[in-house]
Amino acid sequence: MFSYRHAFHAGNHADVLKHFVQLQLLQYLNQKDVAYSYIDTHAGAGLYALDGAQATKTGEFETGIGPLWDRTDLPAPLAEYVNLVKAMNPSGKMRYYPGSPYVAEQVAREMDRLRLFELHPADVRLLADNFTKLEQHQAAQGRRSTVRGKRVIINKADGFLGVKALLPPPSRRALVLCDPPYEDKQDYRKVNEMLGDALKRFPSGTYAVWYPVLQRIEARNFAEKLKRLPAQNWLNVTLTISSPGPDGIALHTSGMFILNPPFTLLATLKSVMPYLVQVLGRDKGATFTLESGDPVTPRVQDKGN
Ligand code: SAM
Repeated sequence: MFSYRHAFHAGNHADVLKHFVQLQLLQYLNQKDVAYSYIDTHAGAGLYALDGAQATKTGEFETGIGPLWDRTDLPAPLAEYVNLVKAMNPSGKMRYYPGSPYVAEQVAREMDRLRLFELHPADVRLLADNFTKLEQHQAAQGRRSTVRGKRVIINKADGFLGVKALLPPPSRRALVLCDPPYEDKQDYRKVNEMLGDALKRFPSGTYAVWYPVLQRIEARNFAEKLKRLPAQNWLNVTLTISSPGPDGIALHTSGMFILNPPFTLLATLKSVMPYLVQVLGRDKGATFTLESGDPVTPRVQDKGN
């Protein structure tokens, strides 16, 4: 059940897409002076060593953050994401990569609340340790504290179920990130059911789902099913870095499906996705798709090459 460890994949092209979009969503929430909840249903370990045994074994970060690290021509929104990762690496050498809880911790304000779910016994321990170290580091610098137990709460629990008790949030503002491993094909169904339930409890929340684009039938129908959920609006973006390899195993395409996205996100993605294809693309199969379910703006389907 617990074979997936995100450390093998940290900083790959799928993480770049996911964390770039996550940053955009959090920054939009920051524009209003009202607190929000950030809920991470599948949090992982929070921080990853790119020079650690797991990350170097696969070298997947070379498909994602690696090629972006030294670029001097990054579009402004993407530069903000790369700068956030660089802030984790004050030596200038690319050693640490922030997982989604750390991205949230860096962007959310003191008044905002982080609620993190992780089931893997080792990763939930690492997540707690990483936040403890961060809290100590911030306290030593006299900066704001992450305040474990108040601002940041880590739960060793099933995020699909745990999110229910947190919706609607007290401030009626929330971003839910749902990023399961999908090694168990039941995850596709569970995401859909979780979102259906969450939209009933809290229709105006923003929900962001990462998903792999794979040949298996559950994956192929997944985004189509999410489009039928009763949200006001949705946005679906995918990034492909190469044509499928002969083994068909390596992940070359992933997507982010966002329910109730901020109206600014479509334009931001239109401006940034062609750049990501250009820099991360490995062959002529590299491309992106961008679709919007905005009831006002006609649906668009863009492809970049
Ligand atoms: N969101 C993280 C990030 O971007 O840095 C990565 C998460 S990783 C793709 C998925 C995580 O979900 C794994 O650490 C796994 O142990 C955990 N997990 C699997 N099933 C879970 C469940 N039902 N509830 C909470 N966590 C779960």
